[in-house]
Amino acid sequence: MPANFFEYSLEFAQKMDMADPVGKFKENFFIPEIGGKQTIYFCGNSLGLQPKTVQAYIQEELDSWATRGVEGHFVGGNPWLYARKKSKHALAKLLGANESEVVAMNSLSSNLHLLLVSFYRPTKTKFKILTEAGAFPSDQYILESQARFHGFNPEEAILEISPRDNEHTLRTEDILVQLALRQSEIALVMLSGIQYYTGQLFDMKAISEAAHQFDIPVGFDLAHAIGNVPLELHDWNVDFATWCSYKYLNAGPGNVSGIFVHEKHGNSSQIPRFAGWWGHDEDERFLMKKGFSPMSGADGWLLSNDNVLGLAALQASLDIFDKTSILELRKKSELLTSYLEFLIYQISNTTHLLEIITPSESNKRGCQLSLLFRKRGKEIFDSLSSAGVVADWRNPNVMRLAPVPLYNSFEDIYNFAKVFETSVRKSDL
Ligand SMILES: *Cc1c(COP(=O)(O)O)cnc(C)c1O
Repeated sequence: MPANFFEYSLEFAQKMDMADPVGKFKENFFIPEIGGKQTIYFCGNSLGLQPKTVQAYIQEELDSWATRGVEGHFVGGNPWLYARKKSKHALAKLLGANESEVVAMNSLSSNLHLLLVSFYRPTKTKFKILTEAGAFPSDQYILESQARFHGFNPEEAILEISPRDNEHTLRTEDILVQLALRQSEIALVMLSGIQYYTGQLFDMKAISEAAHQFDIPVGFDLAHAIGNVPLELHDWNVDFATWCSYKYLNAGPGNVSGIFVHEKHGNSSQIPRFAGWWGHDEDERFLMKKGFSPMSGADGWLLSNDNVLGLAALQASLDIFDKTSILELRKKSELLTSYLEFLIYQISNTTHLLEIITPSESNKRGCQLSLLFRKRGKEIFDSLSSAGVVADWRNPNVMRLAPVPLYNSFEDIYNFAKVFETSVRKSDL
């Protein structure tokens, strides 16, 4: 992007919106209002907005339940017995996976535990988990408790990589060096796809390649990556992954998560797993026989019958993704985020107020920018909030802004900048 491409003007923002091939999708979402005025919603990293079609998708299942009762499992447009299958197509596309490698199920944290049962196989000498320092708390607790479960002291078992002094994000080369140096101790690499706090996008391909040189399995938590950046999990040879559907997948609070298990593991009888009846061979499921015989692929990790109402909401959102493509969305996303970055620096340029800790290279970040404030951060955040900006504050001093290409426009970025400028000047007094 030439440095002088962007302009701080409403005309420029509107010109960009006019030419935006995915701008029309904004109409498919409810935009929250405060005092009758639409908010500038930059919080899709925490909870994605509701597609207007969600209600109809759920209503269809409610009607099926009301009119058919238990028969809804077998008849109707979307028999509940196979509910999970409908989401595979769109999920596989978003993840860069085969349909057999993905399945929607459970919630993120519970899935991560289940996947660690299968892929964290420590021995007395090779028991460490390589992960990023400052990971999302649930992920930290999960790794800690898994280490303890296997009889290890988490202080010893969990190898956290931190950024270098005076840096905020990790260098891929530093991850690779740790892997090489400690290959004989490391039993698993477990990282975010995109770091929730800094917004850094990890080089999953390079990390996966390096770990596999040393026969170390690799898993990613894609909570902040799915629906945000293109993924190629199959080709990158990632062993496993999980995510949540309520951030960039817009499936609603606490809705169904999912797992990816690489094809190479999908039929392995060597890998232990915790089993449930829904993971059992579906041709025999209702024979109620003894002896677990898993379905092939990721479905073999299923435990319970499907959350049909949740999956209906997820499908409403996935059907929107399916009308465009993650590559198309990403093109807009890179521009939106760069525009936001440009305007923030224009406005705060001479103030020494803040630093954007998210990498400035597009291929090292998703849509989110994390602003580290040197002063007056919370004051500015509160002032933005009262002017109708929905963003996210993380103590002690970071504001996260996530413009989402499906429902944010260039004009949203411009409008944000106007409010931001006022808030910065106000707090400058
Ligand atoms: C959002 C998020 C979670 C949330 O976990 P749930 O089980 O869905 O409550 C966990 N890990 C990361 C990295 C997240 O960003």
